[in-house]
Amino acid sequence: MSPSLPPVAADRLPELVRALPKAELHMHIEGSLEPELIFALAQRNKVEIPYADVETLRHAYAFTNLQSFLDIYYAGASVLITEQDFYDMAWAYLKRAQADNVVHTEMFFDPQTHTARGVPVKTVIDGLHRACVDAGRQLGVSASLILCFLRHLSEEDAFATLEEALPHRDKFIGVGLDSSEVGHPPEKFARVFARCRELGLHLVAHAGEEGPPAYVWSALDVLKVERVDHGVQSSKDPALMQRLAEERIPLTVCPLSNLKLCVFPDLAAHNIKSLLDAGLVATINSDDPAYFGGYMNENWVQTFAATGLDARHAWQLAANSFEASFIEPPQKQAYMERLNEVYARFAAG
Ligand SMILES: [Zn+2]
Repeated sequence: MSPSLPPVAADRLPELVRALPKAELHMHIEGSLEPELIFALAQRNKVEIPYADVETLRHAYAFTNLQSFLDIYYAGASVLITEQDFYDMAWAYLKRAQADNVVHTEMFFDPQTHTARGVPVKTVIDGLHRACVDAGRQLGVSASLILCFLRHLSEEDAFATLEEALPHRDKFIGVGLDSSEVGHPPEKFARVFARCRELGLHLVAHAGEEGPPAYVWSALDVLKVERVDHGVQSSKDPALMQRLAEERIPLTVCPLSNLKLCVFPDLAAHNIKSLLDAGLVATINSDDPAYFGGYMNENWVQTFAATGLDARHAWQLAANSFEASFIEPPQKQAYMERLNEVYARFAAG
């Protein structure tokens, strides 16, 4: 934490948190589908979905466990058929990101959710990538894509997905690993990650969300990931905490997701503050914002209110988000200057 940062009046903290420029590094684009867009796409593509109307579907978003979430998640994804559908979904998210002062985002996508329904990887990637290009030009938001393998499927399936995606290698910057964690340790994907590493792709993986610290160790040592998605269970292992801090390995933490999926009993019990105070490069992100109760700023504001984070933590979280991102150093520097300008405005006012 930078000791030279001036304080900001406590009553201006929520406003500061909203205003700070920040990067979002853990957001599944399929998890940004709002009920209104699901119905619009269902109508456009003449897809039947098992919900009578937007209101019924929105009520179903109050799911009670992981399976009820996954049921809705897959029903929602079933309306995505054409390149334009993927564009529209990404564009809706990117506009919300801009409104939250997200200046850079690295969006996850799950090709296997779509190829399993007969939608080609090319359709998925082309639609998402076109939205990323337009976001840079029209919204001033830089955006890139990270292809995620579903860990409940086989490594063979992941290899097949990679093969189908490789002709579009210039449109995504890395690979990740998501879906049900427990029972599917990182080492299950050792070979496909080694191949992706040879290809020069960035590597990330979900680990230590519900799974044990051992999964974080193997994500680092076997998969050789550059940052860990979630990783909140690391606090149970002091040696792991020390390594994460010393090697500055970022954690992309998602507080409202952790709350909804009962990783913590309530937001006040979340460990984000202790991760930051231990010197980890922790960040705050929205995960599946349409399903977990909020986009980027909603995650920040609610977490600050519940856990007692202060203005210096806000600066640190935003700085961490740029450090943890896969953008080039000069661009990182430019974002840091913007961050310091906005912070200074609040400290003086
Ligand atoms: Zn996630």
